[in-house]
Amino acid sequence: MIIVFEPSAKHEQIQHVFDRLIEWGFNPVLQEGEATSIAITGDTSSLKSETLEAFDGVQKAVRLTQPYKLVAREFKPEGTIIDIDGVKIGGKHFTMIAGPCSAESEAQLLTTAHAVKNAGGKILRAGIYKPRTSPYEFQGIGEKGLPWLKKAKEQTGLPVCTEVMDPKVLDKVKDVVDIYQVGARNMQNYDLLRELGKSKKPVLLKRGLSATLKELLLAAEYIMSSGNHDVMLCERGIRTYETATRFTLDVGAVPVLRHDTHLPIIVDPSHPAGKRALVGALAKAGLAAGADGLIVETHPDPERAWSDAAQQLTFDQFGQLMTELRPIATAVGRTMD
Ligand code: PEP
Ligand code: MN
Repeated sequence: MIIVFEPSAKHEQIQHVFDRLIEWGFNPVLQEGEATSIAITGDTSSLKSETLEAFDGVQKAVRLTQPYKLVAREFKPEGTIIDIDGVKIGGKHFTMIAGPCSAESEAQLLTTAHAVKNAGGKILRAGIYKPRTSPYEFQGIGEKGLPWLKKAKEQTGLPVCTEVMDPKVLDKVKDVVDIYQVGARNMQNYDLLRELGKSKKPVLLKRGLSATLKELLLAAEYIMSSGNHDVMLCERGIRTYETATRFTLDVGAVPVLRHDTHLPIIVDPSHPAGKRALVGALAKAGLAAGADGLIVETHPDPERAWSDAAQQLTFDQFGQLMTELRPIATAVGRTMD
């Protein structure tokens, strides 16, 4: 159930409804934005819309048929804008997140951070804990990479996004990392999602390899219902019968998510492409389809990369992509500055 208040509703009127819901044993969650609303999670079968609409200040009370509530567009019609020290994701902004698949050395990370910044990227990505399909492949540099991430941030001012797989590492990384990335393989790691829900930092939640959009939204609901409302969703390609690309980028996911949720949407063109040559076209498709940003892999020497070598862009290619994205961003009413 979502209760939407009149724009003119007074604070006391909203508080009164909130208090009454608590008194009745419900679990209300308040959302104050352009329009104030209250979501009631859990079983609301005993509540009638008419009862709620009779309260002063209430515009309407709608029963949602979908199982997710806090991520629903109805809860926050104007859309969420996440602000990381002035870098915004959502609204009119089109935000570029870029960097190597894996952090490999201090020099590799710092060079990449400067290249990303110079090309107009806003956030640095780099994995230190890597979810590899084979246990015999490079598993990430681990904690050793944390001082490198810190230095990259200090030198460039770019906020840092890195993947976490285990709730136990959150304490170790929290002072350095600005955005926690949940990888496709961990989208349904519910202990991790709940733990991230208790943190104060934004989460970039990637769609599972075979997850439906409803499952993605319910994974985001785990994070939000644990208290953290700064979640961005990432379409990164799904498993289909097609083998010409590494994964099939579900471009249609972008407008569907845009309709169903207020959360920002990021497209990852690198992992579905699997090959450098295909990344640009998928990146442009993501922007044109309405994504709020991209997460792109770039590396100083992609051929020698320790993971995802075939799909990482050279700095020149990344710079070129940025140049090609700008007029498209303008055409669809977005700013990359
Ligand atoms: C990555 O971003 O490097 C990564 C492992 O992505 P995904 O979880 O989407 O495979
Ligand atoms: Mn990768």
